[in-house]
Amino acid sequence: MKTSSSVDHTLDVVSFRSDLINWGKEHFRSFPWRSTTNPYHILMAEVMLHRTQASQVAPIYERFISGYPDIASLSRATREELHNSLYSLGLRWRVDLIIDMVAQINECFAGQIPQEKVDLLTLPGISDYVASALRCFAWNLPDAIIDTNTVRVTGRIYNLETRDSSRRNSLFRRLISDLVDPQQPRSYNFALLDLAAQVCPKGQRPLCEVCPVQKYCLYSRKIGLSEGFSNRSATSSESMISEEI
Ligand code: SF4
Repeated sequence: MKTSSSVDHTLDVVSFRSDLINWGKEHFRSFPWRSTTNPYHILMAEVMLHRTQASQVAPIYERFISGYPDIASLSRATREELHNSLYSLGLRWRVDLIIDMVAQINECFAGQIPQEKVDLLTLPGISDYVASALRCFAWNLPDAIIDTNTVRVTGRIYNLETRDSSRRNSLFRRLISDLVDPQQPRSYNFALLDLAAQVCPKGQRPLCEVCPVQKYCLYSRKIGLSEGFSNRSATSSESMISEEI
């Protein structure tokens, strides 16, 4: 396996995206925050999902959104009310974070969640990951979702060694970003996250034999499952990545 400083792998990006999205349509994980494009609802879900299982978050998210359906209603809530709504998720700082976040949205953005990444990143507790997830899932913007899961899948596809720090590595960030489908970024990113969870999981043997992107994956070829890798020259619809950084 190569280190993350070099890549030498050609894949047909258009076909890769199409195969992944088509698989995603059949294997979509249904969470309540995925059935909305309301940026406030998605932002609250992302805050709740931090270091917390989706199954634990789902019922609390639904009650929370029912009680506080918008920024205005959340702005009127007391700290005690918010604590009572969220205490079962743990991480007490979440309440302070939400209060500070809402105050800044009201003060700096007239009560509207900003769409620009540079603005989102000024809000308390908004990481690059949360800003990208919000932009993609709320506004269908082609931001890459870069976390340990998407890094793991990408590392296997390109046969790159991954570490905890790889999500901050410029090569991984570019590889993941270049694969995002600019026409269907929301569907693409949902499918990638679902593939990482269901087919290419952490700490378990990847299920390469049922993987929709197996034919593009160097790891799969390494273990003898994949045939017919592209040896074609890169065209406008393909990416050729072979460099040292
Ligand atoms: S072929 Fe295997 S290793 Fe490659 S992405 Fe699919 S499940 Fe993961």
